[in-house]
Amino acid sequence: MSKKNQSKADTYSFFSCIEKNFDKAARYLSIKKGLLEQIKSCNAVYRMHFPVKIGKKIQVIEAYRVQHSHHKLPCKGGIRYSIKVNQDEVMTLAALMTYKCAIVDVPFGGAKGGIKIDPQIISAENIEKITRRYTSELIKKNFIGPGIDVPAPDYGTGEREMSWIFDTFLSLSPGEVDALACVTGKPVSQGGVRGRKEATGLGVFYGIRELCKMKEEMSSVGLDVGLNGKKVIIQGLGNVGYHAATFFHEAGAIIVALAEMEGAIYNKKGLNVSNVILHLKKTGSILNFPESKNIEDTEKALELECDILIPAALENVIHKHNANRIKAKIIGEAANGPVTPEADDILEKKGVLIVPDIYLNAGGVTVSYFEWLKNLSHVRYGRMEKRFSENMNTELLQVIETSCRKKISIEEKKMILRGPREIDLVRSGLEDTMINGFHKIRDLKKSLKIENLRTAAFVLAINKIIDSYEKLGIFP
Ligand code: NAD
Repeated sequence: MSKKNQSKADTYSFFSCIEKNFDKAARYLSIKKGLLEQIKSCNAVYRMHFPVKIGKKIQVIEAYRVQHSHHKLPCKGGIRYSIKVNQDEVMTLAALMTYKCAIVDVPFGGAKGGIKIDPQIISAENIEKITRRYTSELIKKNFIGPGIDVPAPDYGTGEREMSWIFDTFLSLSPGEVDALACVTGKPVSQGGVRGRKEATGLGVFYGIRELCKMKEEMSSVGLDVGLNGKKVIIQGLGNVGYHAATFFHEAGAIIVALAEMEGAIYNKKGLNVSNVILHLKKTGSILNFPESKNIEDTEKALELECDILIPAALENVIHKHNANRIKAKIIGEAANGPVTPEADDILEKKGVLIVPDIYLNAGGVTVSYFEWLKNLSHVRYGRMEKRFSENMNTELLQVIETSCRKKISIEEKKMILRGPREIDLVRSGLEDTMINGFHKIRDLKKSLKIENLRTAAFVLAINKIIDSYEKLGIFP
């Protein structure tokens, strides 16, 4: 976003945007004001400054960990590395985590971390120093641990940072048998789960695919059911955006534009996502991709003709100054908070269907939950049942072949007999979670006649959180 638009977009603090959405939802519920205030507020905010020697200089690093809600423990949420990190942003992202976990039935309270650095201009060696120091600061204050608070990747971080966090935690917690569960999003070789890296992007895909199956919603925006042939624009080709783009492309959607920091590329016949990535790796930029048009002002890509717009970079990118020019019929919030409340109102009047972040990007935390469970159970998914399922399937197939007097081909046999691998179980768990989550929100929207999916998602989340307070016997 240009500086001019940024200042115009920031009419509200990011945290108050979430409070506004929360308050809209609260109107549909009869809950005591004090309890609503408790759910809304951040339970613990830890702001820290620590020194790190970078080259010959000592640099003071500003960092945060916010635990938004302790109604379920551990707390859970990613860590962001960005020069724009600030307390308001981390508090908001932590709050979104609480609501997200409630919607997809993941038994965690929300949290978020942030370090105010630009990882693009700092060497890997120094990022490691900063990550390890940040982790030891969290340990000192009891802000990390398998049953306390479990970080994960977010903007600017990935498997590499998670494995440094784990290693630091382990070295300072000797004998901690569950140490692997102190952080998720780790590489598979270090206790990670297969399918975590692509989980958020795949969850975005499952959520939008489910919406596109709904005849009523599709006809409300003048589209046919199904994803095939739908024109898609994706902003941000990082972990979430890249994987989402790949799954949409594989499902037959046409990726007409991709936007990155340096600019965007457009081809109305569609862009091949893996070729764009190869081009990016070779040239360092998505621009000048063969047979595509460059768009220098990357923000303008959001305003191009398309059916589905997926902002997968940062917050506040759709604001009151560009909302009227958005042509997409569906917006899938892969990023956290990409649409400001003012833009939300404008888009709703235009009849745009917005699938909210607190549901749509919950795939990451869902699979992080699977990783945490795997780490606590100390066993890989599928280890106990793979061979058993294969043997059962073999016997069943033999009975069918004998009674039908027909043999099936070796390829068909391989497919039918295969027992579940970890990746199969993780993906089916994620798919089920995203489909169920969508229908719970949609059903609530219909039964309470709620104006949009975002408010319905907040109503669902608040109801779930109230339930757990009641089960705990607090605020009966
Ligand atoms: P990432 O760092 O892997 O990728 C972000 C990408 O966006 C980068 O390639 C960056 O260059 C690009 N970008 C930044 N500003 C841009 C702009 N103005 N225009 C176009 N591109 C821009 O981050 P990520 O993990 O993919 O996270 C993206 C969003 O998804 C964030 O809002 C994050 O909070 C949210 N999210 C991430 C996860 C996860 O599992 N990683 C889970 C839930 C939500």
